[in-house]
Amino acid sequence: MEKIIANTKKILRKLPQKTNLVAACKGRAAWELEQVVKAGVKIIGENYISQAESHYRALGGKVRWHFIGHLQTNKVKKAVRIFDMIETLDSVKLAEKIDSEAEKINKKIPVLIEINSACEKQKYGVFPQDALALAEKLKSFSYILPMGLMTMGPFSEKEEDYRPYFRKTKEVFEQIKKNFTANSNWKYLSMGMSSSYKVALEEGANIVRVGTAIFGPRFA
Ligand SMILES: *Cc1c(COP(=O)(O)O)cnc(C)c1O
Repeated sequence: MEKIIANTKKILRKLPQKTNLVAACKGRAAWELEQVVKAGVKIIGENYISQAESHYRALGGKVRWHFIGHLQTNKVKKAVRIFDMIETLDSVKLAEKIDSEAEKINKKIPVLIEINSACEKQKYGVFPQDALALAEKLKSFSYILPMGLMTMGPFSEKEEDYRPYFRKTKEVFEQIKKNFTANSNWKYLSMGMSSSYKVALEEGANIVRVGTAIFGPRFA
């Protein structure tokens, strides 16, 4: 318990100002979330809607909520109600669903486009070369607020292995930014996890999503 608070504070101290720490909470209990909030975390990251619902019942408006998992269209209705940002938008089809559900409750929902930065076949996200086209299409949706990009990068034990994929994502981020000159909301780059957030910060991330370095290893 004490450990979660100590870990969180240590990470928060290391982050530059204006960097947003998202505590990635998959598989964690509500009491563990209470600890990170006590330690100063302002944003909770959720991968699963069912878990998010129970966490949300426990903490509600005390924090902001980011969805960081793969969003199935049949879960969008719940997602737009709970979340302050969806970090994993990766198709027009999903955008249409989000837009129509958000319209029903008259809520503009911030989104990040998820980039499959290494073009891995089995992974979610759009390829870097397709991101600009998706960003352009998002302009036609009234209830979606495109605010930036998110990427995972291919899993590796070595932190340096992530760098080229983070760099590529930052390039795409800047390229889209040029096309969004009227949109000052285009400002978030969500990259880096426990083993890679330092490299991500060097490559321009201003949102990092950290789980194990806060909570310890996952068993479930
Ligand atoms: C689990 C998860 C994280 C955090 O990963 P850790 O290695 O536990 O820090 C970050 N982003 C996403 C999308 C995740 O699913």
